[in-house]
Amino acid sequence: MKIFYKISEIKEYLLLQKALGVKIGFIPTMGTLHSGHLSLIRRAKADNLVSVCSIFINPLQFNNKEDLENYPKSLDSDIIKLESVNCDILFSPSEKEMYPEAENTIYDLCGLDKYMEGAFRPGHFNGVVVVVKKMFDIIEPLKAYFGEKDFQQLAIITNFVKKYHIPVEIIPCPTIREDDGLAMSSRNVRLLPAERKAAPLIYKTLYKAREMAPTSSIEKLKKWVINELKKDSLLKLEYFEIVDCESLEPVNNLAGHKKCIACIASYAGNVRLIDNINFL
Ligand code: AMP
Repeated sequence: MKIFYKISEIKEYLLLQKALGVKIGFIPTMGTLHSGHLSLIRRAKADNLVSVCSIFINPLQFNNKEDLENYPKSLDSDIIKLESVNCDILFSPSEKEMYPEAENTIYDLCGLDKYMEGAFRPGHFNGVVVVVKKMFDIIEPLKAYFGEKDFQQLAIITNFVKKYHIPVEIIPCPTIREDDGLAMSSRNVRLLPAERKAAPLIYKTLYKAREMAPTSSIEKLKKWVINELKKDSLLKLEYFEIVDCESLEPVNNLAGHKKCIACIASYAGNVRLIDNINFL
């Protein structure tokens, strides 16, 4: 695997690849890789001749300084994992390399950032889109791979490339879970043993809520979810919303609403976890 830290060097290398007609698949990450990330890389490898993974902890998308400081880092073991799936290129720039000057671009996210993560983490999605756009400009991939685990992020980026005519195809990839249902996340390494034991209740609750949906109102479902998570004192629910898959607007009535998704954010101890389940 080739590793680049400098924008000029990766650009020069990829220019040659593109001149040869090579198709590039891109997987942006913040590192501390797990099988969820690796599934995106496998998919990119299946679709393209060259796979480029980036590892960059993007300060712009953290609205909380402590969260940024506590975000796990493990470049050495990430490199081993990337080599195990034959990733072709790793791009891991420094903060100065990505942001030589103060960055204050604001993109129009068409209101998709009003809800859920956007409401609880002001500025988060603008920060995500700023870094994704910069990465797309550097790498110029044909396709880019994003996990459905971060559903709102996926919806915002899909809308963003369409709105700004960015010639990158966004490929959604399914959420990879631990055996007990917990969605894999880099943040899971920060869970203490008791919190790790409590965390699968988040997905179990989503799963049961979906089963109950045909015979329940949204109001009842919400109350039920709130009570379920209260059963474990280590979990603290931040939100549970059922929203339209495209507009992300809250759905008030399930009857006749075909494309909706239930999204949840909950703390397990000090670790903030998100998950979702399709209500199709
Ligand atoms: P992150 O490193 O958390 O920024 O994630 C990088 C990419 O991996 C994003 O597109 C995520 O949605 C995706 N991802 C994270 N966790 C999972 C998972 N459990 N299954 C599938 N994709 C994931």
